[in-house]
Amino acid sequence: MESKLYPMKFLPLYKNVVWGGNRIKELGFDYSPLPNCGELWCLSSVEGRESVVENGFLADNNLSEILEIYMGDIVGERNYEHFGNTFPVLLKLIDSADRLSVQVHPDDRLARERGMENGKTEMWYVLQADEGSEIVDGFTHSMTADDYQKVLSLGKLESILHVEHPQPGDCFFIPAGRVHALGKGLMVAEIQQTSDCTYRIYDYNRPDANGKLRQLHTAEALAALDFSEVKDGRTPYNYQKNSTVCLADNSHFTVSLVALDKPMRKNFTKLDSFVVYLCVEGLAAVRSMGTVVPIHAGECVLVPAVADEVELYNEGDAKLLEIYVDPDKWEDDGHSHIHDFDWLAEFVGSPSQCDCDVHHNLCDNPDCNQ
Ligand SMILES: [Zn+2]
Repeated sequence: MESKLYPMKFLPLYKNVVWGGNRIKELGFDYSPLPNCGELWCLSSVEGRESVVENGFLADNNLSEILEIYMGDIVGERNYEHFGNTFPVLLKLIDSADRLSVQVHPDDRLARERGMENGKTEMWYVLQADEGSEIVDGFTHSMTADDYQKVLSLGKLESILHVEHPQPGDCFFIPAGRVHALGKGLMVAEIQQTSDCTYRIYDYNRPDANGKLRQLHTAEALAALDFSEVKDGRTPYNYQKNSTVCLADNSHFTVSLVALDKPMRKNFTKLDSFVVYLCVEGLAAVRSMGTVVPIHAGECVLVPAVADEVELYNEGDAKLLEIYVDPDKWEDDGHSHIHDFDWLAEFVGSPSQCDCDVHHNLCDNPDCNQ
């Protein structure tokens, strides 16, 4: 069947926030009359804040609307079965002129217990970092929930937060449950599960524009937090031009850095997923299905799953993040697995807990649900 789809570009969504800066303007975006832009939403299907197609005959339709029509042709058959009309990832550019609150996101299991669709695992790729800028990424040492609560009640949370000093090109993977915060003077690309759930733990006792302290979610955060130690949160990778360098590869998203100084051709015949290219430096163009879409830093192109080949072009040095969701990665994801078989419980009751202590793949007991 011949598909009418093509690589799509989306209109930017701007959000001004108390900690937002004005660096996004320097990339060529005009968010006037907003006084600043802390968040540029590059690609979103979050309800009420859906990205709208900018090019081609689907222009003016939003991401959720086109998913409803083209389904698996856009995101991949298995992704569509799993995520429906919610696009699996949310992509933003963040510009922090001031530090963001210290926060945590729930994982999928906790989010679903609390009536939400997804938890939030995320990652940051650093585009710009002022000298001395900081990122909070995990705790300095592992502790119990009690230890944590004691420190928090004494107002000494900052003393147990692990701090990193990011450089442009650094990448930080923040699994759901990890305490984190962006410091000031940073511009990062943020790749995350589609979810708007954030539990704010600490806000540096800073009043908002109305002179009030922002609400904290101390109790909600407690059950979401992972109290283990983080030694070095930076993702190690070997920078290499004109190749696809993996930065993150898990059940939520696969993200690679593609730094180009010459064109590249890629084949995705075997991948049952969309592919998004988010430009983080320079000028580039994405060509697929007979359409060429130019992008600059902060812009992205969504290549539908039905496309087999993609050609990438650069003007000088360009850097792109390549993002997709590989359904094969769910095999190892206990949450999705359990979720998928929820319907069985209706017929057979909840699976009984097996007391074996081997990994579930190795246990012969048919009732084992470890
Ligand atoms: Zn976050």
